Amino acid sequence: MTPAPRSAVIAGGGIGGLATAIALAQRGIEVRVCERRAEFPEEGAGIQIGPNGTRILRELGVAEFLSDKVASPDVLIIHDGSSGRELARLPLGRWIEQRHGAPYWTAHRRDLHAALRKRAENEPRITLARATEIISCTNGDDGISAVGANGEALSASLLIAADGLRSRLRPEISDCTPRLTAVGKTAFRSVTRAESFPSELTGNAVHIWLAGGAHAVHYPVNGGRDIALVAIADDAMSHEDWDAPATATAANEKIKSFAAPLRKLVESASRWRQWSLYRMASPPLSRWTRNRAVLLGDAAHPMLPFLAQGAVMALEDAVTLATSLDAKVDLETALRDYEQIRRPRVGKVAEASLRNGRIYHMRGPAALARNATMKLRSPEGIMAGFDWLYGWRAPAC
Ligand SMILES: Cc1cc2nc3c(=O)[nH]c(=O)nc-3n(C[C@H](O)[C@H](O)[C@H](O)COP(=O)(O)OP(=O)(O)OC[C@H]3O[C@@H](n4cnc5c(N)ncnc54)[C@H](O)[C@@H]3O)c2cc1C
Repeated sequence: MTPAPRSAVIAGGGIGGLATAIALAQRGIEVRVCERRAEFPEEGAGIQIGPNGTRILRELGVAEFLSDKVASPDVLIIHDGSSGRELARLPLGRWIEQRHGAPYWTAHRRDLHAALRKRAENEPRITLARATEIISCTNGDDGISAVGANGEALSASLLIAADGLRSRLRPEISDCTPRLTAVGKTAFRSVTRAESFPSELTGNAVHIWLAGGAHAVHYPVNGGRDIALVAIADDAMSHEDWDAPATATAANEKIKSFAAPLRKLVESASRWRQWSLYRMASPPLSRWTRNRAVLLGDAAHPMLPFLAQGAVMALEDAVTLATSLDAKVDLETALRDYEQIRRPRVGKVAEASLRNGRIYHMRGPAALARNATMKLRSPEGIMAGFDWLYGWRAPAC
């Protein structure tokens, strides 16, 4: 029986790695976070954080570092992409906050990451080692050693692989090397000053535009000073980078069949980036843990962005793992509990995200039926259908 860990090494200082470090430090565990990047440049674009994520950011003491950087949109407006017609106006703002006890936020990923970093830097039990790439590990009887690309051997009682979509540690911890397959869609993203957009189209709202094989989303970030815009469309190209540069011409081409107001919005944005969407080929990983090592976030379960839950699932993993480790059971039991709790949840969210993507990109009669159904249902009823998602609470282990 292995006692509960007193120290942990985390490979990956992204959203999941930093959130886990904070959650473990809150429970008295010493943590070293190893991030392969030397610096954190202004990468990424918009990120939506539902109440299941904002509740965790509050519990971790991260929310206070973010408050002037987020927006709390009042409403989610769904448009028919080709005509521009409004299909539904779903409540967010006070409605969702009252329902779930936590707000719905939109933010720049850069700001979410910076808030997690600031909170971690204020925590004496956390050491953040930049430019430290973890390439493998050696599991021992008394502890585990994370092996760095420069020959470092970093010992701890537990190794958490939060090293993202292209996790290097995944094959060592799970039994297989699953393929990441491009799904044939690319996200074109831009973040632009709010004042450069026509105000009637922005406001304090999340807007979603649906068309055949494509959809576009825009919402306020940086406390409403900027607008994040993403268009996800069928695309044969695949880029492995989160942040490959894209031309405005390519972004405009993807939305050329959309209604004029959206085209105008996209035309007024500059500095486009692109990000090809990948999913893990079936079957899912057979295991997330091996002895003293465990996978977390995208390393365990890459997620398509059609439900805006990739980062939030990493936050949920973080608090679930910390709660399991804090449950006064031995390490093997705690890691097994974490995996057993998280697997069904992320499986359900991943499926719902995939389904949402299909619904968003419907064509012809299927799209007409979707639009008609949306108009028939009450906005509150549609949102109540997501209670299972936004109402999530960390289990009391
Ligand atoms: C640069 C970047 C930009 C992104 N932009 C967006 C966005 O705009 N919108 C959105 O919805 N999602 C974005 N994502 C994805 C989103 O952040 C993740 O899907 C989600 O947060 C899951 O978190 P994670 O911690 O599992 O992975 P990530 O947040 O991707 O973090 C993984 C971290 O591990 C580091 N790393 C990788 N390999 C190693 C290694 N061997 N050793 C040490 N460190 C390693 C990476 O540099 C990265 O910092 C972005 C991710 C990245 C890395």
